[in-house]
Amino acid sequence: MAPVSGPTNPSGDFLAEVEAAFGQSISSCFHCGKCSSGCPVTFAMDFLPNQILRLVQMGCKEQALGSSTLWLCASCQTCTTRCPNEVDIAGLMDVLRQLAVRAGVAVAEEDVVAFHDAFLGSVAKRGRVFEAGMLAEFRMRTRDHRPWLEDAELGWEMFRRGKLRLLPERIRGQQEIKEIFRRSED
Ligand code: SF4
Ligand code: SF4
Repeated sequence: MAPVSGPTNPSGDFLAEVEAAFGQSISSCFHCGKCSSGCPVTFAMDFLPNQILRLVQMGCKEQALGSSTLWLCASCQTCTTRCPNEVDIAGLMDVLRQLAVRAGVAVAEEDVVAFHDAFLGSVAKRGRVFEAGMLAEFRMRTRDHRPWLEDAELGWEMFRRGKLRLLPERIRGQQEIKEIFRRSED
């Protein structure tokens, strides 16, 4: 984890913006650190989960939305279940990711964003992720020109264990899924 720098360009509006999108007040957080001490990804984060929360409380939009933490968070919910004040930090990370994309801030982990886009694009198109198609999309988005054979060994293992399909599957309710995605964009 990088050393924490001081707040930059604090803005009172940012806390209100986040709380409105989050639908929950975050003022009950007293920074006990239980969320961060249980998080399995802190070794790679630039800010700890409770530090992200503190940045939001202080209105430090630039630092909060530009943090790699948002994109490295694995949405495992450990922080949320450990919080004594029932702050849904995993949900807060989700909200901050959405605000970061909407605000067009320079994203710290571009490959993770490309993975999210490829994954959600696959679900939006077919109602269920099609791994081979998603991988092709991800490689295109990240301009990954490595030979495909480099992924073949892992691909074969996944196929052998029934975790990889060669053709996309048709599911029921595909139109409803498309409608969910359409509404989420409104
Ligand atoms: S566990 Fe809850 S109260 Fe404690 S620092 Fe994290 S968010 Fe704040
Ligand atoms: S949801 Fe994200 S921030 Fe919370 S513990 Fe899991 S990885 Fe860490």
